[in-house]
Amino acid sequence: MIGGRAGAIVGIVGVGGLGSPVTLALAKAGVGTLVLIDDDVVDRTNLHRQILFREADVGRHKLEAARDAIARVSPRTVVEIQREHLHPGNAGLLSEVDVIVECSDRYAVKFLAADAAQLLRKPLVVGAAIRFIGTALSTGPEGHPCYRCVFEDLPEGAQQRCDVSGVVGPVCGVIGAVQASFVLRILDGRPSYGTLASFDGRAGTLRHRPISARASCPLCGTHPTIDRIEPTRYVSDPCPQ
Ligand SMILES: [Zn+2]
Repeated sequence: MIGGRAGAIVGIVGVGGLGSPVTLALAKAGVGTLVLIDDDVVDRTNLHRQILFREADVGRHKLEAARDAIARVSPRTVVEIQREHLHPGNAGLLSEVDVIVECSDRYAVKFLAADAAQLLRKPLVVGAAIRFIGTALSTGPEGHPCYRCVFEDLPEGAQQRCDVSGVVGPVCGVIGAVQASFVLRILDGRPSYGTLASFDGRAGTLRHRPISARASCPLCGTHPTIDRIEPTRYVSDPCPQ
């Protein structure tokens, strides 16, 4: 049972285009503790969508810059930083949080976070954005439906990458805001589990639709085959975000 916003510990995987607005929104909304997981540095070319950072932060480790930014806007928020990417060897970090928010730019990390959330019985909010399109999904600790009910498995072959394909900054802002609202609904006891939000930045449309559990889902289905974090299942490849 999660004890409201002030007593909550929220883990944010990836503090980039999506993680920036999520982090700011949750800190200012009164979430007690944020656990930030990232191993990257602030890059000038990403500043347009990574709204947590300023020009003066370029070259700094993202999490140190993020901690300073949160201290400026919400000094009472407790910030814990993990200066590493989420990978199968450290996924146990997620056992310490009440809600997992996945904001990274790698498909493999999204599936790893989804599998870990299911195995740990944690609520999960996953976001993705590329070019003008973004999605956000909220799933519950019971895991029916789950992330794999919708996205199944890592895509094969050539994949879109945000550093090649690009992502429009405001699309990250919209999806990050939706992710933060999903988290706050969980903490406030009014979750939107099983809801997929999709935003089309060209048309300016945001849609929410319920998703269904698949009986054949390998993670939450009738006969699940994923019952532990197996490192070979998560190839560290490209990206949405
Ligand atoms: Zn499933």
